[in-house]
Amino acid sequence: MDKTVDPGNDFFEYANGNWVKSNPIPAKETRYGTFTVLRDNNNKKVQTILVDASKTPQPKGSVKQRVGDMYYSAMDTVTIEKRGYAPIRTDLERIGQIKNVDGIINELTYERVNGLGGSLLFVGVGQDSKHPDTYITSVGAGGTALPDRDNYLKNDPRSLKIQAAYKKYIADLFALTGVPAEQGAKNAETIFAIEKEIAKAQKSRVELRDPNANYNKVNIDEFSKQYKNFNFRQILTASKITGQDSMLASQPRVIKRVDSLLTAVPVSDWQTFLKWKMISGNAGSLSSPFVKANFNYSSALSGQQVQTPRNERMANLVDGSLGDLLGQLYVEKYFPQAAKTYMVNLVENLKVTLGERIQGLDWMSPETKQRALKKLAAFSVKIAFPDKWQNYDGLVINRDDYYGNLKRISVWRYNENIGHLGKPVDKTRMGMTPPTVNASYSPNRNEITFPAGILQAPFFDFDADDAMNYGGIGAVIGHEMTHGFDDQGRQFDADGALRDWWKKEDADKFKERADKVVQQFNNFVILDSIHVNGKLTLGENIADLGGLNIAYAAFKKTKEGKSNVKIDGFTPDQRFFMSWAQVWRSSQRPESAQQRIQTDPHSPEQFRTNAPIVNMDAWYNAFDIKPTNKLYKKPEDRIKIW
Ligand SMILES: [Zn+2]
Repeated sequence: MDKTVDPGNDFFEYANGNWVKSNPIPAKETRYGTFTVLRDNNNKKVQTILVDASKTPQPKGSVKQRVGDMYYSAMDTVTIEKRGYAPIRTDLERIGQIKNVDGIINELTYERVNGLGGSLLFVGVGQDSKHPDTYITSVGAGGTALPDRDNYLKNDPRSLKIQAAYKKYIADLFALTGVPAEQGAKNAETIFAIEKEIAKAQKSRVELRDPNANYNKVNIDEFSKQYKNFNFRQILTASKITGQDSMLASQPRVIKRVDSLLTAVPVSDWQTFLKWKMISGNAGSLSSPFVKANFNYSSALSGQQVQTPRNERMANLVDGSLGDLLGQLYVEKYFPQAAKTYMVNLVENLKVTLGERIQGLDWMSPETKQRALKKLAAFSVKIAFPDKWQNYDGLVINRDDYYGNLKRISVWRYNENIGHLGKPVDKTRMGMTPPTVNASYSPNRNEITFPAGILQAPFFDFDADDAMNYGGIGAVIGHEMTHGFDDQGRQFDADGALRDWWKKEDADKFKERADKVVQQFNNFVILDSIHVNGKLTLGENIADLGGLNIAYAAFKKTKEGKSNVKIDGFTPDQRFFMSWAQVWRSSQRPESAQQRIQTDPHSPEQFRTNAPIVNMDAWYNAFDIKPTNKLYKKPEDRIKIW
């Protein structure tokens, strides 16, 4: 804490000031705070498991063999160095043979089906937002690589810097595959020009927040007629998807743009583009010069000073690629079952409290309230680990073949994904791996998820008092629940279907309140002049405001919440708000701050801390906040939604 700061002037500084001062950002990080510290702790635990599993031979095909050998192969830098870029050489040669537009499209589907990622066209399978009990094919076009569309379209100093770093990166990687410098520089211009054209057709991040505007179900054959080059029936068949009448086409404007570029841009330029996607998509998995070039580029954007050590990166990679196998070992070794029981209880308390708050809302009609309560009652909850582990049946992992392992994982995942078509929706899966320090809400499943990784101090601690746990993990639970009722989540019903269940006057009143949150955040500024984007961050900000209110109301029902007994000189209410603030203690590099303000739907941590509390009467009472304090808001200006 920094007790020289008046809590009413800057609560974030008051609660975290000295932590921030005494914890400089490590060179390998772009930001540093509670989440990073826990992530590092979890990463160490994961490494312990992986080192142990890779040390001795394990029965072929077992969980330990596959995660252990995946890690071993990823750490086998002698073999990786020796191979250089050999793993993608035949792919580059194949791209070099492309003769025409059909050849380009064939290459795109070949790459998708053969575990080589994808570069321009993305075919996959997911829940149908309007019929969440069924799976549907979706197709989208991509091709851009910079963090945001605007980085291509704007000419402000930061965008120009990013563009220059990207072009240098392109030339650097081509040079590593033997392309002369002059040609590499030319390639960079060619690729950038194509990507810029695609970027022009893309929606902004704020536009992408409208689920109805983004839902575009089409008849596959009818839709194909609108395109000169794309025949989606053929593309799906080549992608091993058959027997479908309809599909979701996301951002058709981009698909259209790519379709016309296929004709407008010479085939030789497309070859350059596809080669670039092949090299850059795999740079992190090739020999060290590629890895280094990749880091140089990303550090120019993020400000990161040194690369994360390989063992940390590879532990993350195993978690990301074989999450359910590693998760089994992680949970067994590091997750206490009692924590799950405690969480089940806590979630139930918060659910009951949110129900009471919905009943008590003064701005919502009884009809809409009933539907909101129905949605709340239908919430499903995943805690710590999935109901059923994915065993990656048939997936072979070899100790001496890092790149081959990555490819096989990718093929396995693709087949698993498209294999869902025609089957009932699998509700046993968890969207995050167990060591993840995060939580989530899925609108289509109407489901909240809390991986094992976040169920530890400072979020959650058996030995801590209720004020700390309700201000920590309690507020996180409330946050995820509120996502079901934020500007996006409220558009999905109790079954997870994108369907309007609101009476118009209630929806209008909701929007009026949400607009005040947009205004509140638009006024926040970082690095002297960069404003928070209130519309981009609206869902998260509503979730924070709702979450903290729900957690506080639930806390007031506990024994400590009803008492006035001080701990370490602080009242229960003070401790509740301090716990909330300390969860968000963190600092970040200016480059990272700039990038996140453009791309991250979460607001910077100091605002996440201060913004909800200034709307809560209880905080004013707890810290005796006066009208002269900087954070003070008049009671009638305090925003209340959930
Ligand atoms: Zn959130």
